[in-house]
Amino acid sequence: MVILKSPEEIEKIYASNQIVAEILSQLESEITPGIDTLYLNDLSERLASEKNAIPAFKGYRGFPYSICASVNNAIVHGFPSKTLLNEGDIISLDFGVRLNGYYGDSAITVAVGKISESARRLTRVTEESLYKGIEKAIPGGRLSDISHAIQTHVEAAGFSVVRKFVGHGIGSNLHEEPQIPNFGKAGKGSILKTGMTLAIEPMVNEKACDVKILEDGWTAVTKDGFLSAHFEHTIALTESGPIILSKRNRS
Ligand code: MG
Ligand code: MG
Repeated sequence: MVILKSPEEIEKIYASNQIVAEILSQLESEITPGIDTLYLNDLSERLASEKNAIPAFKGYRGFPYSICASVNNAIVHGFPSKTLLNEGDIISLDFGVRLNGYYGDSAITVAVGKISESARRLTRVTEESLYKGIEKAIPGGRLSDISHAIQTHVEAAGFSVVRKFVGHGIGSNLHEEPQIPNFGKAGKGSILKTGMTLAIEPMVNEKACDVKILEDGWTAVTKDGFLSAHFEHTIALTESGPIILSKRNRS
């Protein structure tokens, strides 16, 4: 069942997403060759606790960390580690918190130093596809309008969308209905309604869309070893259109 939220609930979801956005920006500013991702994990926990927010992923179905740190061919759910980031890597950081009973969830893919032209294009197209999806999150439309817009943009650029993982509703649960695939024909699925809060999260592979899960039981990587990127925003559907609740302040 899709849970519609009142304006008061959307305010709370906004508050928790603004903490996520702020912390992701702070983590992003730390990313440089030679740091490790366990450091980013610990920093995220410290920053969350300063805001009285609870990291949402740690302990979720047994996930052992507060951030997902997915480097290069890792798609999502990568474990933070002591492995140093190298010039030319791309890293996806996925982070969520709970505050006053409501969740925030957002992800960014960041360049480590100078990256290849193709890595830059993959990252750019993935982020663009997120915004193409968000543009379709209009009350009266259909859920798969979002999916279709993402897939169309990604495939026009010659990349592929991951099928195995999807976006989701969010609110007083980290994951709620509906599931939001990043592919599909337009005009299908639930009718979009005012009061829906959705986490839209395209995962885009440089080459084939096939996924492999590592022996840790979590880390999803591209089967062919090529790069993958991931961006996510939590949004609210309002009568005047979608509002990005996890929007970061950018200079
Ligand atoms: Mg996420
Ligand atoms: Mg999510």
